[in-house]
Amino acid sequence: MRSDPKDYELVAAGSLQAAVGLLAQTPGEWLPIAGGTDIMVQYAAGKLSSRKLVSIWNVAELRRIEVLPDEIRVGAGCTYTDIREHAVIGREFPMLASAAGWTGGIANQNRGTIGGNIVNASPAADSLPALLVYDAELILVSVRGERRLPYAGFHTDYKKTRLSPDELIQSVCLPRRLSGYICHARKVGSRNAQAISKVCIAALGRVSGKMVEDVRIALGSVAPVPLRLRATEQLVRGKAIDESLVSSARKTAMAEISPIDDIRSTAKYRAAVAGNLVVEFLNLLNVNGKKA
Ligand SMILES: Cc1cc2nc3c(=O)[nH]c(=O)nc-3n(C[C@H](O)[C@H](O)[C@H](O)COP(=O)(O)OP(=O)(O)OC[C@H]3O[C@@H](n4cnc5c(N)ncnc54)[C@H](O)[C@@H]3O)c2cc1C
Repeated sequence: MRSDPKDYELVAAGSLQAAVGLLAQTPGEWLPIAGGTDIMVQYAAGKLSSRKLVSIWNVAELRRIEVLPDEIRVGAGCTYTDIREHAVIGREFPMLASAAGWTGGIANQNRGTIGGNIVNASPAADSLPALLVYDAELILVSVRGERRLPYAGFHTDYKKTRLSPDELIQSVCLPRRLSGYICHARKVGSRNAQAISKVCIAALGRVSGKMVEDVRIALGSVAPVPLRLRATEQLVRGKAIDESLVSSARKTAMAEISPIDDIRSTAKYRAAVAGNLVVEFLNLLNVNGKKA
């Protein structure tokens, strides 16, 4: 059934304090709306979970990007455009900048926020594999104070998160210690623009000659939540890249995911693409190792 605007209440918070104050009054009653690019789709489909919306769009405390000596703190209200245009993010976290650049079209990038992408909790969300491999941490805020937790584990199941109803994500912290790694990010979809991923990868690695010193691989759209491929990483770490290792890595990666059939793709296709993306990444590491 279509939604009737008269049934909804929308208030602009204006400040972070006002927003969390409202959420604390009756937790679960007010739904934060940032860019609205996911919420308005739910609204149009008559599937919005709440009739009371508190806008956190342009709340200054959520919109800043702070460059600190050990980490970069990206405000949850930063848009994809803010992210892909930020020089330090582009240089040190290129996979996040790339994901921002291929999320929807330009209009979507001007409105959609990183906080909205995380809380919307789609397994196909483009920025989330990068957050996993960069070891991102989240700062959550409520009237009770702040808490900081690793992004890994924030999504507990399909569309489920560890966010309490009275909390907002304030910022996403990206440690700078991994910024020298070789990276590989790719989105496989029906086309480059305006397409949800069938599978996406973000991977980081460090090689010495043929030897893989460290490796971190995450995939989207292959499980109920964005997934770190721990078994594949363990298999590859500390080994020399050769044909047999690449073949085992492909098999291990395909075994540790649980893709589904849906309107965008089939489980079989997703598994094959996931294997190919892991192989592509290992080949890239190998080429870089030979150059070093
Ligand atoms: C045409 C179109 C194309 C798209 N293409 C892509 C794509 O290619 N890749 C992709 O990953 N996504 C895509 N999306 C989805 C969407 O744009 C993103 O998920 C976006 O990041 C959502 O951010 P938002 O600010 O618009 O969230 P909103 O719609 O405002 O909110 C989404 C959810 O997050 C919550 N929320 C928002 N901010 C916070 C916060 N700081 N703290 C706590 N809760 C919060 C809201 O309460 C809501 O539950 C597309 C959407 C559209 C309409």
